[in-house]
Amino acid sequence: MIDENINKIRSDIPDYVELIAISKTKPNEDVMKAYENGHRSFGENKIQEMSRKFEELPKDIIWHMVGHVQSNKIKYMAPYVNLIHGVDSFKSIKVINKEGQKNNRILNCLLQLKVSKEESKFGLEADALKKIIFSNEYCEMENIKISGIMTMATNTKNKDIIRNEFIYAKNIFDEISAMDNNFEILSMGMSNDYHLAIECGSNMIRIGSLIFGDRNY
Ligand SMILES: *Cc1c(COP(=O)(O)O)cnc(C)c1O
Repeated sequence: MIDENINKIRSDIPDYVELIAISKTKPNEDVMKAYENGHRSFGENKIQEMSRKFEELPKDIIWHMVGHVQSNKIKYMAPYVNLIHGVDSFKSIKVINKEGQKNNRILNCLLQLKVSKEESKFGLEADALKKIIFSNEYCEMENIKISGIMTMATNTKNKDIIRNEFIYAKNIFDEISAMDNNFEILSMGMSNDYHLAIECGSNMIRIGSLIFGDRNY
């Protein structure tokens, strides 16, 4: 099933859109089913679970951290993580840069843009996000690269609300990428809204339940 699900999504999206399989709460066997079908990019939302899977699974897997980033845990993923999606504070950026330095790596990350009015959603307001990107302090950092924006739409069935949030994110993304060559990733779209996200300009989608089935926490 897992391989068919991935094939179906793949055949259904443009080539330029990168598909990240979100394997949180799912066992290694499930990751391996996708892996054996040729899939390499996986995402997790807890550093401890991702690090355990990194240790136990093939080393050519490309790991994405999609959860909210706590600065005190960055050190655990710094040696191997490929892209950190949910960065939303300058404090985390400083820690990421420092851990990048320690590991002699440039750590790729995305800033999380807040588009939803929901209280529970993490993320930066657009002005705060731009202020970081264009700050001297960030520009002088050598071991972190901010490659774009990640965003999560409001959890609603109302497509107009979701579409407006995605369009808003795309506009901010375009504005920054016109001035910053590093800015090339717009990570938006999950199982329930990825078609709409791609229509609105997403080039990276994060799909969990549609690939691996419902999560039982
Ligand atoms: C869990 C999660 C996803 C995947 O959600 P599905 O609805 O199962 O596709 C995507 N992005 C983030 C940040 C997540 O935490």
